[in-house]
Amino acid sequence: MGYKNKYLIIITGLIVVFFLLSCEQTKPSRFESVLGTVCVITLYEQGYDRIYNDIFSRIKEIEDLMSVNIQSSDISRINAAAGIEAVQVHADTFKVIQRAVFFAEASDGVFDPTIGPLVSLWDIGENPRIPSQHEIEDILPLINWRNIKLDTQTNSVFLKYMGMALDLGAIAKGFAADEAAKIAKTNGITAAILDLGGDIVILGEKKDKSPWRVGIQSPHEVQNTPIGFVQITDKLATVVTSGIYQRFFEAHGKHYHHIFSPSNGYPVDNDLLSVTVISDISMDADALSTAIFVLGYEKGMALLELFPKAEAIFIFKDNNIKTTAGTNFILTDTGFVVRSNIF
Ligand code: ADP
Ligand code: MG
Repeated sequence: MGYKNKYLIIITGLIVVFFLLSCEQTKPSRFESVLGTVCVITLYEQGYDRIYNDIFSRIKEIEDLMSVNIQSSDISRINAAAGIEAVQVHADTFKVIQRAVFFAEASDGVFDPTIGPLVSLWDIGENPRIPSQHEIEDILPLINWRNIKLDTQTNSVFLKYMGMALDLGAIAKGFAADEAAKIAKTNGITAAILDLGGDIVILGEKKDKSPWRVGIQSPHEVQNTPIGFVQITDKLATVVTSGIYQRFFEAHGKHYHHIFSPSNGYPVDNDLLSVTVISDISMDADALSTAIFVLGYEKGMALLELFPKAEAIFIFKDNNIKTTAGTNFILTDTGFVVRSNIF
């Protein structure tokens, strides 16, 4: 081999290595708009582009399967075939629907994935308006999770009556957060924060081994105004909040938000502003926080007891806060009072 050729090979080699290194640059965080929210993923130390890409592709894949706003999604296909025929869906979609049905049963139907017609009627996200009592009464009979027929042999889903519609808005983000964390973990990431629009998963531990701090949003303020934080020492934890402030509109001096009571068709109106659930599985925490919010404090606590790993923070309209015994919550906003820890 000639002298020049050797040099050429070495230089080409260096260029390739340089190119690979620049592709594998670490990034502190990545933001993307997906699942109807802003997702912020932070992979510590080894946040390579490739891993961020894999995580966001997976989140997008879940959106493509489960969003009601995407016509070709499994959920849109199920809804279009309501009252007509069963629709075969992806195993992921089937799994999330099955879990949603589990929570519907466990919550006595206050959590109901057939809430779709009510979500469309109020249209809180796009063109919100207060529907007439007549319109609400017309669609209420369509909201009944018992009319979802699941075939576990074929992963098929059938909605018994025309006009029924699934909406996984209260659970799909949690599933996506679990899946995103799984990808980070299998790629050897030792520390990460995955924030899917408020559905947060914490993975691993910080370099200095101090606890993670996850802010709890003030229910009175716009985003990013914490009233305190929870300290997390577990290697895998999720913090999910459901409240009146995430999506809402105001009309005639009243506040209308996006979590509905399937029994009267109105946004839930009880003494709660928000419920935060801290646990290990984000899909369950997502469904639980919504279900507990609808159930209210006493019945919500009874449901929570079925999940020994789950802790909760209840923020009430009178600015009192209650937390379960295992919650490591530190209040920083003096406008609120932690009344009692529930043992
Ligand atoms: P966010 O989506 O803001 O994180 P939630 O997890 O509490 O909040 O989900 C609220 C969404 O769940 C609504 O936008 C709607 O799509 C759906 N939903 C509303 N009411 C119910 C209900 N009673 N049961 C199940 N899903 C609901
Ligand atoms: Mg939820």
